[in-house]
Amino acid sequence: MNAPIAPTHTLPCDVLITAAVVVTQNDARAVLRDAALAITGGVITAIGPRAELAARYTPVETIALPEAMLLPGLVNTHTHAAMTLFRGLCDDAPLSVWLSEHIWPAEAKLTPEAVRLGTQLACAEMLASGTTCFLDAYLFVDAVADAAQAAGLRAVLCQGVFDIENAGFKTADAALASAGALADRLAGEALLRPAIFPHAVYTCRRATLERCAAFAKERGTLLSTHAAETARENDDCLAANGQRVIPYLHSLGMLGPQTLLAHGVALDAADLTLLAATGTAVSHCPKSNMKLASGIAPVHALRTAGVTVGLGTDGAASNNALNLFSEMETAALLQKVASNDPTALKAGAALDMATRDGAQALGWPELGRLEVGAPADLCALDLTRPQLHPCFDPISDAVYAANGGEVVLTMVAGHVLFRDGAFLTMDYAALRRNFAQAASHLTAR
Ligand SMILES: [Zn+2]
Repeated sequence: MNAPIAPTHTLPCDVLITAAVVVTQNDARAVLRDAALAITGGVITAIGPRAELAARYTPVETIALPEAMLLPGLVNTHTHAAMTLFRGLCDDAPLSVWLSEHIWPAEAKLTPEAVRLGTQLACAEMLASGTTCFLDAYLFVDAVADAAQAAGLRAVLCQGVFDIENAGFKTADAALASAGALADRLAGEALLRPAIFPHAVYTCRRATLERCAAFAKERGTLLSTHAAETARENDDCLAANGQRVIPYLHSLGMLGPQTLLAHGVALDAADLTLLAATGTAVSHCPKSNMKLASGIAPVHALRTAGVTVGLGTDGAASNNALNLFSEMETAALLQKVASNDPTALKAGAALDMATRDGAQALGWPELGRLEVGAPADLCALDLTRPQLHPCFDPISDAVYAANGGEVVLTMVAGHVLFRDGAFLTMDYAALRRNFAQAASHLTAR
């Protein structure tokens, strides 16, 4: 006689999302086929075989994606989102010409409203290519916060600090005061975190850099800055301060586990040792480094030394896209050609950088992975596209074959923000009109 079947009690959940493939990016880097995630309160409560979860859960909403691959939402660790306003304004020029003749004159006309529109367009671009979290460093940070909040993305929002007068502030004092106000405004926000971003050693005085480091320690925020982007930056720092950039930052108390350095291209062995010993993270921006001919960051050596390396797009004026799929592929290919070694920076390492390592670099380590207890931040790629056949290795396909245009769904904290080409948190047609007006006003001669 058969044993009696135990009565089944299903569990409630907000969303049950099912997919052909789930790339978890958990510690074991498990890739599941015909799988599902249960989500409640914006957090993943279960992950496993589709049939099992379908039997166990009664969801309020089911999202069935039988021909899609789920990935953790991608994490952009360095951008200046509102620079979408200046995309294509000047390309293929030396940095000094690009900055002084084109970008700075346009930036001098920036307004909070223009920054809000530029950031909102950047949010649309990131959502459409699977990015769910970004670190932004720019001016008018309240306008950036308004745009990110309205779009529903997760973000680390940095107040940019300079000792050069700009459209946002006349002095570094005023920028630091704004950083404090931002931290107060974002207290208790689940998706937005405040941070501080002294622009670079060549635009901030020693005392300003020290005050930014003190601010980050006092307020418990991330400290980020552009560092060692070019060999010239080291030469100039040596001449001005008697030290290369990395030891100089260390002498000011700026390195540590709450610090994220953008670029890290011109690094020597002693710099690598110092970054590893202090637990400082690096944001690698391969396309920006290539376009500005800054050089090739020693990503393989950094990772081997134990430095956490995330990926960043930098701003759209020096890239020119905010697309981490493109960044993953570029990062992997660049390390191979630089080292003449096809095993350098494998696909899995590039995906780690765009997901869990980037999350770690932002001090938000629960992001960038799909596992129980993690926030439900994810994207889905359409596996019916020709370039994703035959799908022997989903991670290889995500890094080397996908271009980001395959993204059919992007979710942050359990909320679908982008689905089948539609932006669910913004009036995209109105945004395009207003953005175009703002961009033409800023760049009119
Ligand atoms: Zn930058």
